[in-house]
Amino acid sequence: MAITVVGSIAYDAVKTPFGERERMLGGAAVHFALAASFFEEVLVVGPVGEDFGEADLDVMRRRGVEVSDIERIADGKTFFWRGEYGWDLNSRETLDTQLGVFEGFQPKLSQRSRASDVLFLANIVPDLQIEVREQLPDARFVALDSMNLWIDIARDRLVQAIERVDCLILNDAELRQLTGKPNLVSAAREILSWSAPAASRSSSARPGPSVIVAKQGEYGAALITPESFFALPAYPLENVIDPTGAGDTFAGGFVGYIAAHPDEELSDGLLRRAMAHGTALASFNVEEFGTERVERLTGEEIHARVEELREFTHFSGAPLKLRA
Ligand code: AMP
Repeated sequence: MAITVVGSIAYDAVKTPFGERERMLGGAAVHFALAASFFEEVLVVGPVGEDFGEADLDVMRRRGVEVSDIERIADGKTFFWRGEYGWDLNSRETLDTQLGVFEGFQPKLSQRSRASDVLFLANIVPDLQIEVREQLPDARFVALDSMNLWIDIARDRLVQAIERVDCLILNDAELRQLTGKPNLVSAAREILSWSAPAASRSSSARPGPSVIVAKQGEYGAALITPESFFALPAYPLENVIDPTGAGDTFAGGFVGYIAAHPDEELSDGLLRRAMAHGTALASFNVEEFGTERVERLTGEEIHARVEELREFTHFSGAPLKLRA
C-alpha cells in the first residue's frame, strides 16, 4: 500500500573529509522517498521555494515518486541545511538551518495522500508532523523521525507527536536526550509506555508507540519492542564518503518493507527483515554524496546486500561445555 511522507525537502551544503558539495538535493523526505520507492508507491508532501529546480523533482519522478503534493511557494526559499563532518563520521556539526518555506506552512493533503495506508513523519517541526498525522487518522502503520534541534526547542510537541505513532526511529543519543535516561534500553522502555489521550486517537489507532528503532550510525541499528530486542551492525564498507541522509534512507528501507507486506501482522520476523532492508539501503546512501548513489541503485544490488548481511550476522554451533 502507498506511503505518504512529510518532512524536509532541502538543499544541503555538506563538507566531509572526502569532499564537499555546496548545494545538493537533500532533505529527510527526499532521502526517505527514494529509498522507500523500491518497495511501494511514495507520495511526498511538503513545500519548496521558487528556487527548487525541475531537475530535482525529476530525480524523484524517475524513481516513480509522486510529487504532485509538493507545493511550490511563490517568492519562497527552499529549506537549506549546512553541515560538516570530521574524521568521525558519526558526529556532525550543523552550521546553518534555514526553514524557509517551512515557516508557517499549512499542509493541504490531496485525497490520494490521505488515502495511504502507511505514513512516515520524517524529520521536521513537530507541529507539522501532528497536523499531517491528523489528516491520516486511520493509517495502518505510522512511523516518526526527529532530531536534537526539535528536542531542544519543541520537546512537548514532539512528545505529543510520538504519542500518536506506532514506531519511533531516532538516533540513540537523541533517545537518551529525549527521555533523560542514560541507557538505550531504559530510554526505549520509557517511550514504549507513552500514549496519547484516548480522545485524540482514532478507533483504529494504536495506543502509543510499540516499536522503537535506535539508529547507531556506523554501528548499525537496534530494534526494541515490548516483547523483544534485535540489533544489526551497519553493512561493513571500506569507503564512506557522506553519511548525510543515511538515517532517512534507513527509514525508507525499513518502512517501505513493512508497507510492502500489507497482509502480514507486525511480527518480530517482519520487523527484523525490515531492519535488514533499512540497513542495506543506508549502506548505499553513504557511499557517495547526497542522493547520488541511491539514484542509480538497483533492486538486485539491494537483494545482494541483504543476503550478505544475513551471512555476516548468522552463527551456529552447539554450546560449549564450560568450566565450572
Ligand atoms: P540524516 O543524515 O538522515 O539525519 O538527515 C539529513 C537530512 O536532514 C539532510 O538532507 C537535511 O536537509 C535534513 N535536515 C537537517 N536538519 C534538519 C531539520 N532541523 N529539520 C528537518 N530536516 C533537517
